[in-house]
Amino acid sequence: MAPRCMLVTLLGAPNVGKSTLLNRMVGAKVSIVTPKVQTTRSRIAGIGLFGETQLVFFDTPGIFKPKKRMQRAMVEAAWSCAHQSDKVVLIIDSCAGLTSDTCRVIGKLQRAHFSVTAVLNKIDLIQRPKLLKLISNLDDEQLFQDIFMISALNGDGVKDFLEKLKTEAPLGPWLYPEDQVSDIPLRMFASEMTREKLFLQLQNELPYSSNVLTEQWREQKDGSVRIDQVIFVERQSQKVIVVGKNGERVKSIGTAARRELESFLERRVHLFLHVKVRHDWSERPEHYHDLGLDFNA
Ligand code: GDP
Ligand code: MG
Repeated sequence: MAPRCMLVTLLGAPNVGKSTLLNRMVGAKVSIVTPKVQTTRSRIAGIGLFGETQLVFFDTPGIFKPKKRMQRAMVEAAWSCAHQSDKVVLIIDSCAGLTSDTCRVIGKLQRAHFSVTAVLNKIDLIQRPKLLKLISNLDDEQLFQDIFMISALNGDGVKDFLEKLKTEAPLGPWLYPEDQVSDIPLRMFASEMTREKLFLQLQNELPYSSNVLTEQWREQKDGSVRIDQVIFVERQSQKVIVVGKNGERVKSIGTAARRELESFLERRVHLFLHVKVRHDWSERPEHYHDLGLDFNA
């Protein structure tokens, strides 16, 4: 059989389950997942090989009305990714239904003439009648080639969806080696792991006021790796929270991130976290370049 390859962009409002679905389809955790909106800040590729077909999925930041510079860059990254792919998949949280964010994305997709498949996610949480009503509302939009119902969390329906994508993939060479699961650089992957733990362990607005950069990645003689990261926050009061009493919070974040890095890298990791106050980090280009975002979006 000849090789096939297709680029698929996963679009949708924040928190609908894009990253969860990506990880499930690829069979590895390449994109971080938290219950908070706007966790994913940049385009992340997850690569899956299904027989002779390579499907390259792009997880994107959720689409919403941006207010700040970083949000603008995030939303812009999602759309520019859609324009560069063969296929767009709109993920909808079936419980939340047609929210204003989702409707805005649908409107923009209609104007852009993409070939779009809708995926209704979180069906483990919804009653059948409500789901059917949602499907009929989506049909009325006359935008979708097909509509799938899935649970990214428990995997229901994901196989059928993948089968369909496989049939749509055009003939062509694979873009990545067969054992590659993501295109994000390891340094960024490491920053993302720590950022996920920040999102999971800190409350309210704090995760949004923070960012993580990997400053050093040093291979050690004994086969382990030493990683030094800086957690940037905007205010001294935030630093106090991130560090925690006797440094306990930052230690717990570091331990959780290190464990996951070790299992992903399959080697020992020494992770050093430094917390720095930089009130304008989100106005500095280096925080965009590392994430592949356009500072001037
Ligand atoms: P994203 O912002 O669209 O990337 O969404 P995430 O993948 O980060 O998921 C947001 C939240 O929804 C997380 O707490 C997930 O565990 C949860 N979630 C994702 N998919 C499902 C699903 O199929 N069922 C349920 N019950 N929760 C889900
Ligand atoms: Mg995400």
